[in-house]
Amino acid sequence: MTDMTGWSVERLHDDHAQALREEQVHYDSKTDHQRLRVFENPTFGRVLTLDGVVQTTEGDNFIYHEMMSHVPILAHGDARRVLIIGGGDGGMAKTVLKHQTVQHLTMVEIDAGVVDFSKEYLPTLSDGAFDDPRLELVITDGADFMRETEGGYDVIIIDSTDPVGPGEVLFTDHFYGHAHRALSPEGILVTQNGVPFLQGDELTHTMRAFKELFRDWTCYTATVPTYAGGPMAFGWGTDGKARHTDLDTLKARFDAAAIETDYYTPEVHKAAFALPPYISRLMP
Ligand code: SAM
Repeated sequence: MTDMTGWSVERLHDDHAQALREEQVHYDSKTDHQRLRVFENPTFGRVLTLDGVVQTTEGDNFIYHEMMSHVPILAHGDARRVLIIGGGDGGMAKTVLKHQTVQHLTMVEIDAGVVDFSKEYLPTLSDGAFDDPRLELVITDGADFMRETEGGYDVIIIDSTDPVGPGEVLFTDHFYGHAHRALSPEGILVTQNGVPFLQGDELTHTMRAFKELFRDWTCYTATVPTYAGGPMAFGWGTDGKARHTDLDTLKARFDAAAIETDYYTPEVHKAAFALPPYISRLMP
């Protein structure tokens, strides 16, 4: 086998691996929950891995964060209360809080180590979001929180790891049922569902649960270079009609929000819901 010394090799799938060259390792340690590592890659900048799986990079995190926050928030049109489950690096919180219409953001992260460490080693990701008075950070298991919360959230974003280790509970039917109950009447749930080409079962499982729970359910996609294997899928579930918000309305909301983006536009938003047949066929 080729010598992979100096490379970070991710083996998330049985028959596919990806490798990123480690120019410099900034941090490598175990928290109570997982092994946390940050290294420098010439193309992606600082890369965060948890248990050997890439979570986020300085270079391409904007695609994932913009598509998981701006899409539901702008489609909803009046999202005041937002909940993030996971999201320890703070990138999702930063992107959500760009919306001045958001009055309160609750972020529930299981691992305080990821938050502390990200503030120190990946400060550009959260960019001060942890100091925003609208943010309430809760350190606990997202599944426990969701079971007990009174709810009333306009948008819920599941910014989780893959369904292995602590993230596994965030992909269960029970969890989705509790998330549905925690939404306001027009509220929207979005989930990260991996790369369908390599993790098709994961998407099918989530969509099967959404079909039982929501009046409107589907997924949308975006291509994030470090999540190898093609576009990644985001689950979408709501009892409202936000998916069908027309382009002119999205444009007006986006202009009013006055947010600078590197991936999101209202046109990209609309196009992201057009699914190629190999992904449509994974729908129940
Ligand atoms: N964007 C990444 C991806 O798709 O690979 C995931 C982002 S990372 C910020 C996911 C976060 O979810 C981690 O900080 C992890 O600690 C957290 N997490 C995992 N399981 C959790 C749980 N049961 N409750 C709350 N947070 C959890």
